[in-house]
Amino acid sequence: MALIVQKYGGTSVGTLERIQNVAKKVSKFVDEGHQVVVVLSAMSGETNRLTDMAKTMQERPSKREMDMLLTTGEQVTIALLSMALQQSGHDAISYTGWQVPIQTDEVHTKARIDSINAQKIQDQLDLNKVVVVAGFQGVTANGDISTLGRGGSDTTAVALAAALKAEECQIYTDVDGVYTTDPRMVPEARRLETITFDEMLEMASLGAKVLQIRSVEFASKYKVPLRVLSSLKEGGGTLITSEDDQMEKPLISGIAFNRDESKLQVLGVPDKPGVAYAILGPIADANIEIDMIIQNQGQDGTTDFTFTVHRNDRAHALEILNAVSSEVGAREVVYDDTIAKVSLVGVGMRSHVGIASRMFKVLADKDINIQMIATTEIKISVVINESQLETAVKTLHEKFELDQA
Ligand code: ADP
Ligand code: ASP
Ligand code: MG
Repeated sequence: MALIVQKYGGTSVGTLERIQNVAKKVSKFVDEGHQVVVVLSAMSGETNRLTDMAKTMQERPSKREMDMLLTTGEQVTIALLSMALQQSGHDAISYTGWQVPIQTDEVHTKARIDSINAQKIQDQLDLNKVVVVAGFQGVTANGDISTLGRGGSDTTAVALAAALKAEECQIYTDVDGVYTTDPRMVPEARRLETITFDEMLEMASLGAKVLQIRSVEFASKYKVPLRVLSSLKEGGGTLITSEDDQMEKPLISGIAFNRDESKLQVLGVPDKPGVAYAILGPIADANIEIDMIIQNQGQDGTTDFTFTVHRNDRAHALEILNAVSSEVGAREVVYDDTIAKVSLVGVGMRSHVGIASRMFKVLADKDINIQMIATTEIKISVVINESQLETAVKTLHEKFELDQA
């Protein structure tokens, strides 16, 4: 008998029939004698629908009220699943985040979990009940409802698995594991049996939305065995492992991409100590996260800054830069909303040279211009024009032979 935490995403609970299907899956584990905690998302599309409603009411909706609104989606699915389980003769009880309680900080819409008191859940498990917990939500020290950021149900599941010292945390979704790249873009993408935490973390932070970044951080930190599986298809899915457990280390494990960023450039800045701070300080003060940054020094005593931010933050960032640019005497500020970032990820890269140049050649052969480059030990990212994204991903996938085991 094991304690298992299972998380089902939006598509997996997208209709009443699918919720009944989840009840069947959960029942199977219970009937085998396992204790099961289920974490659910809202029905697919629901969180977006609620977000649109909020925007109708208020231009920039209050973040506290946003959390109040968005958490209703998960309250619906947990109650319905508990009913379906009860209908099939399995005792079940649902809890929202504050009922557990899952204590978070005060940062509404992207709160971090501070602590979880798992006693109530454990007590209910000991009474042979299935405990169904609302994903993505928690409660602040003030008693306000908070959310963990989009995709946050993954993090709820992993955090509960850590708090309960569960045997495994299973993330059920609409694909049957983690693939070499998004199988919706590249049908030849191959499912990975295992991927390391480091690689998964890079993949998630570079755009592979199959797991929320924080859930991977959490699982790695608390050593929670984490598996991604399909809610509709049988199979072992993908196990996220520590590197030591991996026998062979493929050079490249996967390709991640995102189209969520914009590029901003401050050009012709008189070069002197302090200009980077003068330009980027106000951006950070406005809580705008900067992803890639490049500064290049010209021969004429000026320097150019290029960086990327989330596309939702571009307008705000531009406003700030326009104000700052006259202070630092910059020539002009420009932006581009039509960029995309493509990244190769793999721990095997550490011990190999020449991956970057191979990547650049593949892109050059397809006439794809590289605008920015960033590397770490286990990834190479490039910014290109969005219109060439699909070609870039498909060609890199083929040329690096990721479709072959
Ligand atoms: P859920 O609603 O279950 O949380 P998500 O939509 O958040 O599901 O995540 C699953 C989706 O992640 C898949 O449908 C797939 O399109 C996407 N995805 C992106 N990159 C990958 C990848 N490398 N492997 C698997 N899925 C990926
Ligand atoms: N329902 C939330 C979202 O759509 C949380 C989740 O699904 O993980 O982002
Ligand atoms: Mg998700």
